Amino acid sequence: MTTDLGTPRVLPSDEAERAVLLAAPRGYCAGVDRAVVTVEKALDLYGAPVYVRKQIVHNKHVVAGLEARGAIFVEELEEVPPGATVVFSAHGVSPEVHRQAEERDLKTIDATCPLVTKVHHEAKRFAGDDYDILLIGHAGHEEVEGTAGEAPEHIQLVEGPADVARIVVRDPAKVAWLSQTTLSVDETLETVAAIRERFPLLLDPPSDDICYATQNRQLAVKEISRDSDLVIVVGSGNSSNSVRLVEVALEAGAGSAYRVDDASEIEEAWLDGVRTVSVTSGASVPESLVQEVLAFLGERGYPDARAVHSAEESLIFALPKELRRDLKAAGRS
Ligand code: SF4
Repeated sequence: MTTDLGTPRVLPSDEAERAVLLAAPRGYCAGVDRAVVTVEKALDLYGAPVYVRKQIVHNKHVVAGLEARGAIFVEELEEVPPGATVVFSAHGVSPEVHRQAEERDLKTIDATCPLVTKVHHEAKRFAGDDYDILLIGHAGHEEVEGTAGEAPEHIQLVEGPADVARIVVRDPAKVAWLSQTTLSVDETLETVAAIRERFPLLLDPPSDDICYATQNRQLAVKEISRDSDLVIVVGSGNSSNSVRLVEVALEAGAGSAYRVDDASEIEEAWLDGVRTVSVTSGASVPESLVQEVLAFLGERGYPDARAVHSAEESLIFALPKELRRDLKAAGRS
């Protein structure tokens, strides 16, 4: 369904001005790809079942596909039988979860995205220097729980500018901030500005915590939203970066924007009077789901999609070291 150049086809007159724009980049990031491949290879190597703590990535189709192959998703480690193999999700876990795994004698494979691990290291370093750390993120998100668990005595959560007035620190000259990797870039800058107004000596993280994939997908959706009557974001409701894409699309000028898990959730009424539809997907979304959305639009008289490129991506992460070691030992690396 997707073409860059596309051979124009003859459309009925009422369809002639329609267009479909497709954001690039979109979909799988390097951290999600690594996490999904980790579970697949673990199933191949050790055989089913392989336990996974929490959703490996926040996409219900990905989780269902891995369940069908023998992965068992659990909320907490007490649901995993002693001695079994468990994979930690891309969102990361706190040191307490590693301790519990050791106590239960579990074989662990840590699929935490290296860019989340980087934020954990920053938290440990700031805490080691005895800073109060303001972690910008969403309460209850697994990534936030994992990062906060690195230094619970030093970290407090800030969800947005409205929280800044209630922050209490020990020393206003020793305050640093960190963030969840999948936030809105613009909103986070606003929150940091509000924090800095209260604490002018605020220390920044050494590099951006909002990851390259989140930033690129937001940039790409901004690019296509300006000219769109409707933006469809493919992604699950618990996927922070997918939900942010809807918000960014609306802020960038889209007439309307909706998130869907797949094409079956698109409502026909959304297309009323719509000429330009743009499509993108969150970092945990397989491309097949996007292609199904394009097929849905095609069946309703929309032309082939035109890809709009706003960034190139080539990052690949190596598989977790525990898995690489076992693959090598089995002669499968
Ligand atoms: S969205 Fe960013 S931090 Fe999260 S898994 Fe992907 S690359 Fe890693």
